Amino acid sequence: MNASMNYLDGNAAGGELSRIFAVDITSAEGQCVNCGERRRFAEAHLYPDCPGLVARCALCGHVLLRLVTIEQRVFLDLRGMTYLTLDTTQPQQSSTQVSI
Ligand SMILES: [Zn+2]
Repeated sequence: MNASMNYLDGNAAGGELSRIFAVDITSAEGQCVNCGERRRFAEAHLYPDCPGLVARCALCGHVLLRLVTIEQRVFLDLRGMTYLTLDTTQPQQSSTQVSI
């Protein structure tokens, strides 16, 4: 990894990932398959200027996620994470309104 490359935090991937996931995974916790570090996805280092989006582990730099859109197809590679977990008790941003 080139240390001089600029990156954003994982929150910047929220828009693109919302095209695939019904929940906001930037608040999810993932474990890096390389070093075992567990952190919120929002803390990942996001490189938006690669072909597609590339999120790297904030600790070791290993690739956690790659997202590439080619024409009408989206390719999502999550091999860099052992798991991704969400707290389902936390409210998600949604346009759903509940009537009382
Ligand atoms: Zn790592």
